[in-house]
Amino acid sequence: MEKRDIKSLTLEELTEELKAQGYPAYRGKQIYQWLHVKLAESFEEMTDLSKDMRRSLAERYRIVQLKPVQVLVSKVDGTRKYLFALEDGHIIESVWMRYKHGDSVCISSQVGCRMGCRFCASTLDGLERDLRPSEMLEQVYQIQKDTGERISHVVVMGSGEPLDNLEGLLAFIRLLCGPEGLNISQRNITVSTCGLVPEILRLSEEGLQITLALSLHAPDDEVRERLMPIAKRYPLQEVLDACQRYFQTTGRRLTFEYSLIKGENDSPGHAHALARLLKDQHGHVNLIPVNPVKERGLAQPDKKRIDAFKNILEKSGINVTIRREMGRDINGACGQLRKSFLQKMG
Ligand code: SAH
Repeated sequence: MEKRDIKSLTLEELTEELKAQGYPAYRGKQIYQWLHVKLAESFEEMTDLSKDMRRSLAERYRIVQLKPVQVLVSKVDGTRKYLFALEDGHIIESVWMRYKHGDSVCISSQVGCRMGCRFCASTLDGLERDLRPSEMLEQVYQIQKDTGERISHVVVMGSGEPLDNLEGLLAFIRLLCGPEGLNISQRNITVSTCGLVPEILRLSEEGLQITLALSLHAPDDEVRERLMPIAKRYPLQEVLDACQRYFQTTGRRLTFEYSLIKGENDSPGHAHALARLLKDQHGHVNLIPVNPVKERGLAQPDKKRIDAFKNILEKSGINVTIRREMGRDINGACGQLRKSFLQKMG
């Protein structure tokens, strides 16, 4: 029988299971802290448990762990990109960035992705599988161990569509932000979605305080459908209505991500249309010059065109920033490192 994944259990679940095995309730908290605060990697380390208890736990449970297989450090800004191996051999990618406001980790939520966005490297080979809550947590834990610094911000913007793994994502957020674990503030968590309407609506009802980022990338359905297959299932107006709902129930302003792609969505006309579209939305726009993906043949607009796009939005009263590119010298964004690693292994 496969051993159970103890790191994906909430404190309540763990306590219940231990009680059912005849242990007192306080053992739950004790073991939980070993796993989620002291970041123990084996039951052997849990020295305040009896040898018998450690042995019995090890028979029943496994402690899911990621193995770092590669770490690249940017000479430009200190950004660190990690490739981790999962228990089943799959490879995922995470990024650590240092900002003025604290250390931030960008994690993956799935192995691969099935959303098919044209500009994205993560989706080239489709979806392999969802990540478990423990595997999402482990990206944060491993990086915290490696850097020796406390991580204050987590963005779920690596490979995968987090809302396509909603159950796993919710468990992950509760584990990461729970007072008994790393206790990261929900307000410092950002989840980015390509716009799955039913899941955005469900997320609105969860009573969370996380930031929702919508990958917009287009001012109308026609352009969006060319870039993102998911746009055919959920028209823009439905997606924006769901975002509005998220704002109403949580009070959290949204982030609208817009990757600027030469000749696709970067004209002054697109900028004006975007300003009209977002006039009454509660949020700001984050412009991201597209990271060229060789397989996709898409390019960045030049700086003048990017600035012009930004100016039009600003003049229309839209809050807008251009995302600073981090770790440019260590292999682009969004699944590109993993992709090049797998190709070399291939
Ligand atoms: N599936 C989620 C999160 C993963 S991608 C989503 O779609 O939001 C995180 C962000 O990076 C998304 O806005 C995505 O559209 C964007 N992105 C993907 N590939 C990119 C590329 N080559 N250049 C710039 N942004 C990219």
